[in-house]
Amino acid sequence: MRQNEMFLLKLGEVVLKGQNRRSFEDRLVANTARRLRSCGSFQVYIRQSTIYAEPTTETCDMEAAYAAARQVFGVVSVARAVPCEKTVESIVETAKNYLAGDFASAKSFKVESKRADKNYPMNSIQVSQAVGGELAEAFPHVTVDVHDPDLTVHVEIREKYAYVHAPAVPGAGGLPVGMGGHAISLLSGGLDSPVSSWMMARRGVELEMVHFVSPPYTSQQAQDKVLELARLLTRYCGRLRVHIVPFTEIQEEIRKNCPEEYFTLIMRRFMMRLAQAIAKRAGAKALITGESLGQVASQTMMALAVTDDVAEMPVLRPLIGMDKVEIIRMSREIGTYDTSILPYEDCCTVFTPRHPATRPKVEDVRAAEAKLDVEGLMARSLEGEEWVWVKP
Ligand code: ATP
Ligand code: MG
Repeated sequence: MRQNEMFLLKLGEVVLKGQNRRSFEDRLVANTARRLRSCGSFQVYIRQSTIYAEPTTETCDMEAAYAAARQVFGVVSVARAVPCEKTVESIVETAKNYLAGDFASAKSFKVESKRADKNYPMNSIQVSQAVGGELAEAFPHVTVDVHDPDLTVHVEIREKYAYVHAPAVPGAGGLPVGMGGHAISLLSGGLDSPVSSWMMARRGVELEMVHFVSPPYTSQQAQDKVLELARLLTRYCGRLRVHIVPFTEIQEEIRKNCPEEYFTLIMRRFMMRLAQAIAKRAGAKALITGESLGQVASQTMMALAVTDDVAEMPVLRPLIGMDKVEIIRMSREIGTYDTSILPYEDCCTVFTPRHPATRPKVEDVRAAEAKLDVEGLMARSLEGEEWVWVKP
């Protein structure tokens, strides 16, 4: 690392938010600072829609910080850059040193300049021409190619300094966590719900997780797997509270008293009610699930109506229109795939009906459920609830 290397983070949709822009920016700066804290001491601030993250000591882990910055929602791109004086000489010197390795492996290059400082005496085309001309002389083996260069040298003339960097890499996009409200995400150990959680967090939703366990039918390993999935998500969302809710008695009562074809549906209605109770207590305003239309019997349109019959708040299902292959691709990209495919029983796979109803009627399921002491079962389940904080 060059001693004064730092990061420039570009804001995405945040800049479109009009009057709210200020609070979006403040939130994004705070989220970025928090996420970089584990990589060393960084000074993080914002000027003209760009976040500056500067290491304040030489012991900062720049590679880890680079990776972490790319996982902050609300950031569209991240560049490692070096500041210098705002003169052509200084910019050329900096590019020569800082990008020497990039020049060594390139056959062609161009310079792209931006001017955030509108009082700067040269316009961006003039800066590019002046810097490009000098760099072409300094690296005679590299030719200028403005259409399809191997290397693009970026020069940003900003308030105090000019910044030199190679092309930026994409960030996580979306909106800063905390700006999209607060929701309870139903997290199982499967492939889907980590992805649905991630998708809503990317829209700025602050998440709190609920996981249902049915010991002895489900194991400690299954629960640990879910906590590990939550931990993987903290790289994007920051620390997460995970509620562990006992579900055994409910499942046993359903099996004892209800028609087999409705087992899963009634179970899902209980999950919704319990998650909702936790949401109300936490002040959360929506539920999130990993359901995808038609994926299993409990996710047909009629089955979803049966589940939503007990919902008193919006149920967000970001995967509803996605194919399994797309969901799997995303789970690989966000890094939850390998953990999700570990083979531990989830409570959904306990007592699964042989012939689940795929075209259930709400009234029939309500009638079947009437044999249960819904209030009592819920109260006892919530009494046994525990929660843990999962940290990055
Ligand atoms: P996943 O891959 O997320 O497990 P799935 O395809 O297995 O989903 P279901 O098992 O029917 O589908 O679950 C549908 C959704 O219900 C899940 O995506 C999740 O949001 C929620 N859910 C299922 N089981 C649990 C559980 N044990 N704890 C919390 N939420 C659960
Ligand atoms: Mg599942």
